[in-house]
Amino acid sequence: MYFTSNTVAFLDGEFVPAEQAACGVYAQSLHYGYAVFEGIRSYNTPNGAQIFKAEEHYERLHYSCKSVGLPLEYSVEELTRISYEVLDRNNLTDAYIRPLVYAATPNMSLKVATTSNVLIAVWEWGKYLGDQLLRLSVSPYQRPNPKAVPIEAKVSGHYVNSIIASSEAKGRGYDEALLLDMNGYVAEGPGANFFFERNGELFTAPAGSILRGITRNTIIDLAREAGITVHEQFFTPDELRTASAAFMTGTAAEVIGVASVDDVTFDTPFQQTIGGMLASHYHALVTGQTATRAASFAKQQ
Ligand code: PMP
Repeated sequence: MYFTSNTVAFLDGEFVPAEQAACGVYAQSLHYGYAVFEGIRSYNTPNGAQIFKAEEHYERLHYSCKSVGLPLEYSVEELTRISYEVLDRNNLTDAYIRPLVYAATPNMSLKVATTSNVLIAVWEWGKYLGDQLLRLSVSPYQRPNPKAVPIEAKVSGHYVNSIIASSEAKGRGYDEALLLDMNGYVAEGPGANFFFERNGELFTAPAGSILRGITRNTIIDLAREAGITVHEQFFTPDELRTASAAFMTGTAAEVIGVASVDDVTFDTPFQQTIGGMLASHYHALVTGQTATRAASFAKQQ
């Protein structure tokens, strides 16, 4: 699914067959989850393949590296240019792009790495959480304590929390988990941010215990441009009883409606909610159909 015998990946300065891109079992990253990554999408637009918000994603990759002391030798511009080349070499326009910065050196010490490795892989990927409205359940797992780890960085090891939370919710028959922060406020999903609607306004968790999603920021901008008030504030799962609708956002998931959170259901058809409207605005934006906002795309180098 991620690669075939024809797939090309970028690895440490070279374009190589994806099948040959490998990492040894003594790598520090494998033992300690000490790596950072990004999830980016490219869309087929009237101007060809355009990577949505490449600059923001690669700036976040740099921020993530800095947060955990992983060196990153490539600039935002170089990473963007390489990403376009990987897309091109794989004849892909609508694709998911996965950059990974890791420490392949055999090293069992708990010291920051002095060198790093860079993989940029691409593949075709449908909406990560599908197209159906999601039945969420509040997870017994909290988001990691932001005083224990740099939670705003996209660190591989953080995703153990996401894997166990998501699997636990699915094991109980739900589509996805909704995680609370250490104080009992709603934070986000395992791989997407969460919004709810009340009286024509939007609410989402503030920075602190969440990954500040680039899609989240885009949706906040689109909502405010449409004159909708957006509150970034703490709320408990109980407050969702006063909500009329909810949705999740993420690069891989895009914008996806929520049918219910445990026993609280949202009955308005998604298309008639603010989230539904923003989902179509988002689609028009990323596929380059909203000419006035075309500046959001990083220019192809
Ligand atoms: N939260 C988490 C935990 C995520 O993994 C993601 C996906 N990167 C998001 C939120 C959404 O972020 P973005 O919109 O930047 O993809």
